[in-house]
Amino acid sequence: MSKTKESQAPHPSAVANIDAGPIKLPIDCRHFTGYKPCGKSETCDKSCAAYEPTGARVLLVHLGALGAVVRSTTLLPAIRRKYPNAHITWVTDRPADVLLRHHPLIDRLITTDGRDLIQLRALRFDVALVIDKSIAAAGVMAMTEAEQVFGFRVDPMSAAILPATPAADELWRIGLSDHLKFHVNRKPETQLMVEALELGPWLRDAYHLQLTEAELSEAARRRLAWGPRVVGLNTGCAATIPFKKLSVEGHVKLIHELRRRDPDVRIVLLGGREDTQRNRQIAELTNVIESPTESGLRDGMISMMACDVVVSGDSLGLHMALGLGKRVVAWFGPTCAHEIDLYDRGASLITQAPCSPCWKRSCDKPVMCYDLVSFSQLASLSVALLSECRSPQPSREPEV
Ligand code: SF4
Repeated sequence: MSKTKESQAPHPSAVANIDAGPIKLPIDCRHFTGYKPCGKSETCDKSCAAYEPTGARVLLVHLGALGAVVRSTTLLPAIRRKYPNAHITWVTDRPADVLLRHHPLIDRLITTDGRDLIQLRALRFDVALVIDKSIAAAGVMAMTEAEQVFGFRVDPMSAAILPATPAADELWRIGLSDHLKFHVNRKPETQLMVEALELGPWLRDAYHLQLTEAELSEAARRRLAWGPRVVGLNTGCAATIPFKKLSVEGHVKLIHELRRRDPDVRIVLLGGREDTQRNRQIAELTNVIESPTESGLRDGMISMMACDVVVSGDSLGLHMALGLGKRVVAWFGPTCAHEIDLYDRGASLITQAPCSPCWKRSCDKPVMCYDLVSFSQLASLSVALLSECRSPQPSREPEV
């Protein structure tokens, strides 16, 4: 667990005017690093227009999985509301850091790679928010110091994961009971996290992923090349629960249904390196567009940004689409639809399999949940959402 010490140095705001030599420097500014210019102004003093006195130093520990990390971007506005002018450090596993890059509400991004993580030993925080229920997250916390910890902790003797405060009890218990998780709970995970971390009332803050200007230009170029009405099919999912993706045959049926309803629709296959082979198979059978799958996560975000509507199982692709402000059609097999808020920008479709949800990692049912999704409904929901795309997309800037 994180260490707290009697001999704490004063909060940074208390040393705002430290004499750093002949010139008083505003070392309490959120942008001040002390080793190079912050790039926001020529003169570094409190007359600088970008000067922003730092409030609480907040550590957010969310290591994985990728989709869940993207979902946790919904916490950032709530953190800033509770802790005005907070300086936010986020620790995560690679390659989740790639997705979080350029986010305007994250001040420092640290990965769990050894050389990167060692920075934590030099830092101290007012507040730590630990989202992962894992020993690894507790190990990260053991490398630093925090005055207050919310979320989850680990009992060092038994290695049991426990709520850090009573507020995390509900989320903790839901994780321990399939009955609670599948049949009792109706709150989305985003709400449960805000409540567990004591971040104030849940205001349904949106996901946010930030593309650079260059990435947005490339997305616009692909959009132009692909056509005026683009549905992106996110074809894959992580190997942990492999049933969150449709079969090749399922994708082919869906593509036929989409074309039957809208002959002008352009269909793009989305995904990463692990989906290359499947996407090739689907494209050979249907002559749809294959987006690049070998160019990394940010390139995948660019392709997704170029789509009007994204169809996805409950996987990273779904969370990425929400982070990019896309309209989404989400289908659910082994996992719980009520845990995912689509922010009124999409529609959910649940498999007709009676065994759903189950959260199983292996399954030998003769007919699988992903084959019992209504492809005709998936197609009609997608086409209905496409017709909404003439109206402006919702704002993509996170609001505090
Ligand atoms: S038990 Fe049912 S819902 Fe779960 S993976 Fe198997 S088929 Fe899908």
